[in-house]
Amino acid sequence: MALEQWVNLNKKPDYAEGTPLPRLGTLRVRAKFKKDKLTTYKWKIVRTDGVKYSKKERTRNRRFRLFKGGARTNENKTEIRSTQDFNLPAAGGNKYKAVATCNRKEVKSAEVEVRRRLWYQVLHMSGVKPLSIAKKLEDAFWNPGKKLFIESKEAGSKASMKYLKTIWDVEVKSPDLEFTSTTHTHGMGNGGDFIKAAKKAWEGKKKAPYAYALAFVNYITTSTEATHTEEVSFNVPSKLAKWNWGGDVIEVELGELLWWDLVPEDDKVHSWFVGGRIVFIEKGGKSSARIMLDRKNVRPSGPNYGAHGGKTRAKIRLTGKDIDRNFFSKKDGRWFIKLTVRTAGGWSGGFAYTYIPLIAIATRSFFDDTGDDEQLATVMHEVGHKIGLAATGVGPVPDKTGDLYGYPKGSGDDRGHWGPHCANGAGWDGSKWSGTPKCVMWGANGYWDAAAKKFVKRKAKFCPNCEKIIRKLDLASQTLTITGFQKPL
Ligand SMILES: [Zn+2]
Ligand SMILES: [Zn+2]
Repeated sequence: MALEQWVNLNKKPDYAEGTPLPRLGTLRVRAKFKKDKLTTYKWKIVRTDGVKYSKKERTRNRRFRLFKGGARTNENKTEIRSTQDFNLPAAGGNKYKAVATCNRKEVKSAEVEVRRRLWYQVLHMSGVKPLSIAKKLEDAFWNPGKKLFIESKEAGSKASMKYLKTIWDVEVKSPDLEFTSTTHTHGMGNGGDFIKAAKKAWEGKKKAPYAYALAFVNYITTSTEATHTEEVSFNVPSKLAKWNWGGDVIEVELGELLWWDLVPEDDKVHSWFVGGRIVFIEKGGKSSARIMLDRKNVRPSGPNYGAHGGKTRAKIRLTGKDIDRNFFSKKDGRWFIKLTVRTAGGWSGGFAYTYIPLIAIATRSFFDDTGDDEQLATVMHEVGHKIGLAATGVGPVPDKTGDLYGYPKGSGDDRGHWGPHCANGAGWDGSKWSGTPKCVMWGANGYWDAAAKKFVKRKAKFCPNCEKIIRKLDLASQTLTITGFQKPL
């Protein structure tokens, strides 16, 4: 069996975990000579198995290059141990041998096989269950059948962090954040509180820059604003499903998830309600009334949207003074209602900060639990981003594939997503998706197929092209600190 060489790690005791102790970083080769006669010998490293980097890749990153060889002498010494360090190329599963030639005699070293290693720590908001996908995550990046060989080791014990019911309004369009689905946002959120809470529970400091935190959280959504207008005749029974007239109470179906059941402090002050009015115009325009709506008189109502809450209706109570006018019960006419509300506009399964090693995974979305598969897909996707997927062919990452889209960010090829992603299996006609995304690096957790009337979900699998790229990825500290691990958490 070949010796394992963990090429991405520096030779530091903090990274030397395991039995037997792992061989870290550069490959150290020693030569011994029996005689003290001055001799010249030649070194070279040969690849005995594995993937080959393209010329472009080798130009962009020296860790994609193989040392060609060189000559040395034994310096006229007896029993000399000549030591030399070689950088092996980054690709997982590649095999090499060192070959020394002296007086036409060739000596070969044992075979060495390349491995990479990263650390992770599972954090979870208190009360949020971290689903047992850690093992699946480890398998997804190790995958001996595909020779991905990125080992994932725990950087600390599972730790609980401060509970925030919802992470919201983190600035999606800033370059240090990546959402797995398209979202629009405004206002300030609590992303800073989330980072602070994660920092407190983080134990991976010593493993930097090779470690990331995987934080299991409750909801991730954005606060958006929606204006709802509706016009109805007072005595229209068919509208009663949407409109209930209880003498002084109207119930309106808004068809959107209100900013409710998400942030307890916001619920207390009913911040979901921005403003509104009702205008009544009597038939023939004989008279009219205008009622400005007040936060005191509106409440979320109707059935829960999901297992954990969520409202789409608003109940409006008209105050005594309004009722005293007696317009509504005695006169024929039309009502015009206008409500402006905050809504939960964009739900996300998770996101990764680009500069710091922190990934958030939502365990609930749309007021329901998300399944293991979806969480695993989100973790694979976000970790994938942090280590260089989908490959852009720029800087220290491997060449891009024909399926790359969304790069550079905001270049006009976003296809409704955000960031560099892989379109393998999925079609894009300029306005909508079709087909079946074959890659977990596709840019959202699914899309609505209007023709088939179903939600097409992304799978928790890397496509074969991205698997090849994962093999090639350079995860050395110098590269990680210019890609997804720039600053410590
Ligand atoms: Zn993404
Ligand atoms: Zn792919």
